[in-house]
Amino acid sequence: SGRLYLVPTPIGNLGDLSPRAVEVLQTVDLIAAEDTRNTQKLLNHFQIKTKQISFHEHNTQQRLPELVAKLKQGLQIAQVSDAGMPSISDPGQELVQACIQVQIPVVPLTGPNAALTALIASGLVPQPFYFYGFLPRKQQEWQAALAQLKNLTATFILYESPYRIQKTVEHLGQVLGTGRQLVLARELTKVHEAFLRGTIGEVQEYFAQNQPRGEYVVLVQGQLQTVEKTWSELEVQQEVQSQIQA
Ligand code: SAM
Repeated sequence: SGRLYLVPTPIGNLGDLSPRAVEVLQTVDLIAAEDTRNTQKLLNHFQIKTKQISFHEHNTQQRLPELVAKLKQGLQIAQVSDAGMPSISDPGQELVQACIQVQIPVVPLTGPNAALTALIASGLVPQPFYFYGFLPRKQQEWQAALAQLKNLTATFILYESPYRIQKTVEHLGQVLGTGRQLVLARELTKVHEAFLRGTIGEVQEYFAQNQPRGEYVVLVQGQLQTVEKTWSELEVQQEVQSQIQA
């Protein structure tokens, strides 16, 4: 029968596409991609010739029956997003649900994910952790979301773009106060990978002097976490040159 393969793709460094991912992308009948032009670059790099079909948040409802029908006919389909794990702040979840409902096997591959990669190098308590993703844009909604996150004892993780990171750090300060430990992980696996570790207030000051650059994972110390902090003032970890670039 058909199977749905969930294939994580690099979040920057092409060396992170696993040999198994390459093999699956090569051998499936069809790749359902968030952005086929973006994925085509990846496929070209690995000389993969598999046909693609677009599958993103704006055509999900239309594509679901189509993809499920193909899977029922016995086609093997791989789903990918633009970067990292499908379904994690990316399209995928509805397709997985649809497959489970009609008993089509869902096969997840392991691979890149920005949140976990940032967490293990953050220096913050790694468990429990709470993954939130992107905060809502509307003021009432981000305020409500942050008011809930504020009370978590777990480390919590947000995603943010370079355009909004400074605002988001401001908002964190407004709702949580400026004293909590914050870690920003920027451009993971890329040439300009760097970590910023400090209090929310220190990171706010940093952005008053420095332009945001690249994609960010935002990690916030949980409430009442008693772990000794390992840095005493804002620390910007040296950039470490990665080997292989997108
Ligand atoms: N599915 C992806 C995953 O598994 O991590 C996340 C996709 S989400 C649309 C994109 C966000 O992930 C970015 O805005 C940023 O917060 C984070 N992200 C993705 N790549 C990153 C990188 N190389 N460095 C830091 N953050 C990254």
